[in-house]
Amino acid sequence: MARITIAIDGPAASGKSTVGERVAAALGYLYFDTGVMYRAVTWAAIDRGIDIADEPAVTALAETLAIRVEPPTVSDGRQYTVFADDVDITWGIRGAEVNRGVSPVSAYRGVRSALTEQQRRIGMQGGVVMVGRDIGTVVLPEAQVKVYLDASLHERARRRFVESAERGARVPFAEVVADLANRDRIDSSREVAPLSRAKGAQYLDTTRLDIDQVVARILDLVRGTEEMNDAGA
Ligand code: C5P
Repeated sequence: MARITIAIDGPAASGKSTVGERVAAALGYLYFDTGVMYRAVTWAAIDRGIDIADEPAVTALAETLAIRVEPPTVSDGRQYTVFADDVDITWGIRGAEVNRGVSPVSAYRGVRSALTEQQRRIGMQGGVVMVGRDIGTVVLPEAQVKVYLDASLHERARRRFVESAERGARVPFAEVVADLANRDRIDSSREVAPLSRAKGAQYLDTTRLDIDQVVARILDLVRGTEEMNDAGA
């Protein structure tokens, strides 16, 4: 069976990472979360005292930063370990400061082209579930299965709130709602590669679906595509 490419896009906390990881595990595919790369650039900018508003400096950083995503090196609930220039930033990139800075950083054209290039190389190998905002539209428009995951803002905020509480973070619910709404607004309205539903993407509203149901629907789509491929369609 040919190993296909699966693109999953959607707004913040729509379930992309949980679902993407599960789908990849079921198929024996690589799971790749592109948001990690934008977060890594944002983290490194903050760490080096680079002003997020300084587009040329942030772009130069994106062009030179060595971002590596590897299987978990520590067993603390992480999906993977993220390194920026060999520093483990796995949890650092989930902090409030990065949450605030990441959407402005990812709106920069030069940042996007540096990272998109790397993502495309990974996607082209096949056997990948890639999640993000522009995977089906820009990074891998030729992906054989494209999914757009959505859920109400309230439900997404609830999921994110529970997740951070489990990690011991105490962020007020209203702040989580405001952060997600703000990121969605910037991500959907930016000029370069805005979040939007790709042509041919299956729209899945997960507000009232549990993870198993969403995973099952995507695996159905994959099976349908494989059958079509096998039939030579
Ligand atoms: O998915 P996650 O919430 O980790 O993504 C963080 C941010 O990275 C998003 O809010 C968006 O601004 C940016 N992003 C993007 N394109 C992608 C993935 C993430 O612009 N493919």
